[in-house]
Amino acid sequence: MTAFPEAARVELANGGLRANLLNATDTIRAKRARVVAEAPDWEELREAGKAIKDDVLTRLDEYLLEFEAAVQAAGGRVHWARDAAEANAVVVEVARSHGVDEVVKVKSLTTDEIELNDALAAAGIHALETDFAELILQLDHDRPSHILVPAIHRNRAEIRDLFARTIAPGIASDDPHDLAEASRLYLRERFLAARVGVSGANFGVAETGSVCVVESEGNGRMCTTLPNVLVTVLGVEKLLPRFADLEVFLQLLPRSSTGERMNPYTSIWTGVSDGDGPQELHVVLLDNGRTRALADDVGRQALRCIRCSACLNVCPVYTRTGGHAYGSVYPGPIGAILTPQLRGDESTSSLPFASSLCGACYEVCPVKIDIPRVLLHLRAKATKPAAERTLMGGVGWVFGGPRRLALAQRLARSVLRRGTVHRLPPPLSAWTRTRDLKGPPREDFRSWWRSRA
Ligand code: SF4
Repeated sequence: MTAFPEAARVELANGGLRANLLNATDTIRAKRARVVAEAPDWEELREAGKAIKDDVLTRLDEYLLEFEAAVQAAGGRVHWARDAAEANAVVVEVARSHGVDEVVKVKSLTTDEIELNDALAAAGIHALETDFAELILQLDHDRPSHILVPAIHRNRAEIRDLFARTIAPGIASDDPHDLAEASRLYLRERFLAARVGVSGANFGVAETGSVCVVESEGNGRMCTTLPNVLVTVLGVEKLLPRFADLEVFLQLLPRSSTGERMNPYTSIWTGVSDGDGPQELHVVLLDNGRTRALADDVGRQALRCIRCSACLNVCPVYTRTGGHAYGSVYPGPIGAILTPQLRGDESTSSLPFASSLCGACYEVCPVKIDIPRVLLHLRAKATKPAAERTLMGGVGWVFGGPRRLALAQRLARSVLRRGTVHRLPPPLSAWTRTRDLKGPPREDFRSWWRSRA
């Protein structure tokens, strides 16, 4: 994975991307602020969301078993997956056992995280993305750049040109209605023919074994009701203890994400029912690094995340670089704290530094994740303690004696006498790569003082 500073530099050179991003995030931010302001109990809702999620994380083992029993009692089947490979194997096996060469998919970050589409493709099965933005990305072999609005980096004219090349030859209009109609016509036949549907989920309810998906387009409802077989991949942290807890999250999520009072489509299903919807239901419970995050006292709060994307839209770093610079399906502030914990390796160690620590993300987070605190915690883990200790020890020794300090100042003045320094040799080059080093003043305070004594 390319380190964030290098990836960000590439993205920052794209002026069109920045304009699209700022335009879109400004709009969503204003909508969110309006609907949050009209909820008099917003702070109480945030506290409730945080408390429910903390309870889930504290007693996750119990809730998972309760959920499994409830799903099975309702006629569904539960699979446990330690990692992406195990989860993908389950979905591939279910699709294969029904002899299909295509599945229809609801937009799902969890399935993107495990790269399910690639695993299905390797087994000769096409995963058709049915969310409008995901379809755009799939047609153009592009990657999502926002949690909620995956094609936020694309404008209408680009989409019109893409559709003209792929699913709607001859389309000339870039009016949103015409673009939506073109995708609707393309997808409708595929929905009706689909025998296997695949979804992620926003919430799973331990008490009843229910699964809940919220969306805006109705494609999710089609995927979860038309095919005879449904496979849902659920991150283990997505559980809620009781059905009544949905009341809190179905208020927090739409206001924080799309700036709406409620989601246009809220689908909830519990097991299977004769003659109504899928007759075979599989739920894959995915770990993939989540229990590693759970073991970290400070970092585990990232698992409270309900993927609303409010933190992305207010982040001064994300709104300039866009999502691709983060190299993961989870971009922005939440990606900077979640991805390193899920992956648990060196490849993502630059992500916690992709922040100005302004705290805007914490202020908007509906489940009160203290993102700046987790960022600092992960930064401390990522720095090389031995190198830092040696450097700080040296600085302490110089500062600890007036003669040593005076000598160091003289040395600095003679080396840096040309004023601002734009480039230093390694390892100090890490500093000047992104900022200038101001040279020392011509005269230090002590000489100035002596001259006036
Ligand atoms: S960290 Fe908070 S604000 Fe960001 S996506 Fe998750 S729930 Fe939303």
